[in-house]
Amino acid sequence: MKPTKSLALTKPDDWHVHLRSGEMLPKVLSDTATSFNRAIVMPNLSPPIRTTSDAVLYRREIEAALEKNSDFTPLMTCYLTDETDPDDLISGFTADVFSAAKLYPAGATTNSDSGVTNVLLLDSVFSAMSDAGMPLLIHGEVVDHKIDIFDREHKFIELILEPLRSRHPNLKIVFEHITTKNAVDYVRSGQPDKLAATITPHHLSVNRSDLFAGGIRPHLYCLPIPKREQHRIALVEAACSGNKRFFLGTDSAPHLIEEKESSCGCAGVYNSPNALQTYIAIFEKNDALDELNSFASLNGPEFYNLKPNTEEIEFVKRSSPVSIDDLVVGSSRVKTFEPPFPLFWTAK
Ligand SMILES: [Zn+2]
Repeated sequence: MKPTKSLALTKPDDWHVHLRSGEMLPKVLSDTATSFNRAIVMPNLSPPIRTTSDAVLYRREIEAALEKNSDFTPLMTCYLTDETDPDDLISGFTADVFSAAKLYPAGATTNSDSGVTNVLLLDSVFSAMSDAGMPLLIHGEVVDHKIDIFDREHKFIELILEPLRSRHPNLKIVFEHITTKNAVDYVRSGQPDKLAATITPHHLSVNRSDLFAGGIRPHLYCLPIPKREQHRIALVEAACSGNKRFFLGTDSAPHLIEEKESSCGCAGVYNSPNALQTYIAIFEKNDALDELNSFASLNGPEFYNLKPNTEEIEFVKRSSPVSIDDLVVGSSRVKTFEPPFPLFWTAK
């Protein structure tokens, strides 16, 4: 296969990833560290990473699982609960253990049972974070099961996020893995150094109909759930616009195949091996490859007050589609995300 085209990017970072722990960790970490220099590591282990000392131990576990000579840096996050101690949180942030804190409404997604039951309980934590300049990362869905699953993100804006931002106007917030035009418009209305959003490769690639194309597709099931096509198009426009409020976060979330193909399958898409390739395909289709470097490699560090990476990563476009391999974990597998279009780009 001869390369037909090439593309160089500043080495990207992943601003939202699940690396898990134990046997899964070295496998998925290797896929992340191949494509990304740094990653915001989600704290929803079981039990979650709730204190500075939890994060020190988890960071050590990640560093020990890295391949020799890897210069990958994990950026740790704190899982907020009703009991989070603001002093421990801020001392972890000032000591460079924590890069951010994550708000999961209780019960919103995988391992979120100890999440926050009422955000008002955390006002002293948010004030301390705001004063320290510590970013708050939000899984933005209401958890009231009376509210339709497809409405939970846009209801969250009105019921939780807007009141929270009015109480803490200086708090830096990342609205994670947004899925709706409502979220895109809302993020556009904020100050760029105070409100940003990550967008995943799968939410740029699939809409809610794809979840049921020809039968139920458990490997596309994730939370927030993909929405109508008009919302997917709004996400693509936001990512491809170059607007600094939007940046890369894969939300790559591995589950073993038997946890996905089940009578009650887990939410999560494993995309680390081909996330960049999928983003490239989306930007190329939309004639926006010139904006990809901002989205993938510049906007995130700027929001987090970090320098962009200095090295580059190069991709080439093949003349025939690249194969997508699953990840072998022990005697099981993790299915890698397959976008509903072929991928031709591969790292050189
Ligand atoms: Zn996530």
